[in-house]
Amino acid sequence: MDIRKELQEDIDGETLNYCFSCGICTGGCPSAMMTDSRYNPRKILHRAVIEGKLEDDIWLCTNCYTCQERCPTKTKVADLISLMRRVYVKHNKIPRFIKPLVENLAACGFTQVIGDLENRRRERMGLPKMKHTREIRRIMEKTGGLYE
Ligand code: SF4
Ligand code: SF4
Repeated sequence: MDIRKELQEDIDGETLNYCFSCGICTGGCPSAMMTDSRYNPRKILHRAVIEGKLEDDIWLCTNCYTCQERCPTKTKVADLISLMRRVYVKHNKIPRFIKPLVENLAACGFTQVIGDLENRRRERMGLPKMKHTREIRRIMEKTGGLYE
């Protein structure tokens, strides 16, 4: 698998070579802050470009887009990380800890099962109850997003 080639061939991969490693993306990244910079979008891009390697850490991205908004070279950092995830999925290399989240998503429409406890908590905060849905499962069935 040639990661660099796969990333660059995709429409979201067009900006992969714009990065000059300034680190502004990592400086504003909430996941980097929460993991004491173990998660580091600058390093993830650097490794993809220079070494052609992907890291399991890409699954720690919250897709908040702060990095992409702040990048001085308009590198599509968040889109590139989403693209890296798609490459992982394509090659069936999803880390084990993602599997139960996908199963929950298929079963109830959320990555965490919403039960009475969560709904009581929501009620106390004046929020409406959450209901499970099968819509996501139907989308996954049609797009092949379900685990075998
Ligand atoms: S902010 Fe942009 S240019 Fe700077 S390291 Fe991040 S992706 Fe690269
Ligand atoms: S989109 Fe991902 S990498 Fe970018 S700032 Fe948010 S959590 Fe960090």
